Amino acid sequence: MSSIVLDRVDKRYGDSHAVHALSLEVPAGSFTVLLGPSGCGKSTTLRMIAGLETPTGGAIRIGDRDVTALPPAQRRLSMVFQSYALFPHLSVRENILFGLKVRKEPAREHAARLQRVSRLLGLDSLLDRKPAQLSGGQQQRVALGRAVISEAPVCLMDEPLSNLDAQLRHEMRREIRALQRTLGMTMVYVTHDQTEAMSMADQVVLMNRGRIEQHGTPGDIYARPATEFAARFIGTPPMNLLALESLHGVPVLAGSHGPALQGARPQAARLGIRPENIRIVPDGRWRARVAGLEYFGADSIVQCDLGAAGTAAVRAPGVAGCAPGATVCLDWSPADQHFFDASGRALSPPAAPTD
Ligand code: ADP
Ligand code: MG
Repeated sequence: MSSIVLDRVDKRYGDSHAVHALSLEVPAGSFTVLLGPSGCGKSTTLRMIAGLETPTGGAIRIGDRDVTALPPAQRRLSMVFQSYALFPHLSVRENILFGLKVRKEPAREHAARLQRVSRLLGLDSLLDRKPAQLSGGQQQRVALGRAVISEAPVCLMDEPLSNLDAQLRHEMRREIRALQRTLGMTMVYVTHDQTEAMSMADQVVLMNRGRIEQHGTPGDIYARPATEFAARFIGTPPMNLLALESLHGVPVLAGSHGPALQGARPQAARLGIRPENIRIVPDGRWRARVAGLEYFGADSIVQCDLGAAGTAAVRAPGVAGCAPGATVCLDWSPADQHFFDASGRALSPPAAPTD
């Protein structure tokens, strides 16, 4: 198994600085997700690991080898892209075997490896079909099969599920994760979809403008976002950020005239509170006006206008018993509060949950 280490890896395209001295360790056999908005440098980073782009600075190691100057074929990795890039004139069998043939791997092993991979991916009965005769999900499985059959210890995936509908995406996420575990591959997976990152990753590397914003387990980033960017990027709907003001030196919600917010330091500029941590209760400490309501079946999202502090989304179970225009009272536990300074950095993270 191979770990991957990026040591101050930098990439410039002319004046554009796509990746800034990025350092990162991907443990062997782990599933690491590079997550971030479009244009933040995820694909560039992945392509430098693959050897498809040359870094303008820094070094990349895979296992115990410095691969910075090695061509892709010598890095012992496989790759899956958003566009499956299957050959339309070749059958599923030929598509899957294509790489082995190009690399001139011993032909006597082909049949056994093909059988193993097509079984693993449920493609046994489709081997003679052409890509045009397959559904989107089946095509994606062929692309996975082609990567997996190489038995490379490292697999890189760049938004491999973007072309699939929501239901299929959900299934494929589980399949890819199971495949990675079964084969013990070191996986680096790129996505802009935080749900995908949260549900699949051992380690999430959240990127913003060519830099790592925060990295940790999905649970860490959700529970202790280091910045407002991380707070808003992870979680749906995103964490609410409410403006604070100082009342006789004590931070309170803007326009609320109190009550005091337990644990808020004087430099706190905004309160972060997740929609799932706010309760609509008759004796809640903050009054708000219901500005909108969305019903999702298991729960509803209620938009609550808190005046000068801003609007907070509240996740309420089932049908929220309130209508737009109504006045409601909101409350939350101090343990669920996050505070950020004026620059957007988290201040004294809340105590870890006890359960
Ligand atoms: P992501 O995959 O996160 O959407 P990319 O890694 O593709 O982002 O791009 C990061 C930045 O680098 C973007 O600003 C993009 O425009 C720029 N970039 C990527 N590839 C090239 C290229 N070949 N030439 C010039 N700029 C590029
Ligand atoms: Mg990309």
